[in-house]
Amino acid sequence: MRFQPRVLMVPLLSLVLAAAPALAAPPPPSEPVVAILPFGKVSPEVLERVARELQARMRVQVRFEPQRELPKEAFHAPRRRWRAEKLLEAIDADPPKGAWKVVAVTEAEISTTKEDIPDWGIAGLGSMSGLSCVVSTHIYRKHSKTREALLRRVGDLVVHEFGHTLGFDHCETEGCVMADAKGKAIKSADRSTGHYCARCLGLLSAEDRARVKPAPEE
Ligand SMILES: [Zn+2]
Ligand SMILES: [Zn+2]
Repeated sequence: MRFQPRVLMVPLLSLVLAAAPALAAPPPPSEPVVAILPFGKVSPEVLERVARELQARMRVQVRFEPQRELPKEAFHAPRRRWRAEKLLEAIDADPPKGAWKVVAVTEAEISTTKEDIPDWGIAGLGSMSGLSCVVSTHIYRKHSKTREALLRRVGDLVVHEFGHTLGFDHCETEGCVMADAKGKAIKSADRSTGHYCARCLGLLSAEDRARVKPAPEE
């Protein structure tokens, strides 16, 4: 009788050990994949921040894609910068396999058409209820005094552009991450709480709503 617990210990312990690899396995397939796609050379620190911000807000698996060259057809020669909508088109034409959403990241300067301005410099662009969005560090790099300020602003921008892919338009709620930057990318990023407001979240399908993590208490 005395040694019986010892005998029991062995199978118990091996059970625990056998269970350990299962705990380290990837999350169940119910968590959709968000692919992070570097266009041109992007600092690993920026890519990691993008991944971290997305995972702080969404129940998703983040997957880093191999770097792609900026597509030639997106180059806007008169200003020597890249057309953001053409970058999104290039992703739609050749999307990373199995991705629910694609977040492209670039250090290059990007632009798009804004109302009557044919080529307007922007920090990011997201396809409404679409597959992809793109963020650029260019504007923030020029105007951020510290690396941390740059990363924080890029992080806020990612959540904003990702919100467009979820179907969010610009929002007037104080502090909502979906505020329209109105051409003032720095001011807008610094005023943002970094979270989608209740009004925005109310627009989501139940399925997508379940994928958004609750915001920490203010
Ligand atoms: Zn926007
Ligand atoms: Zn909002």
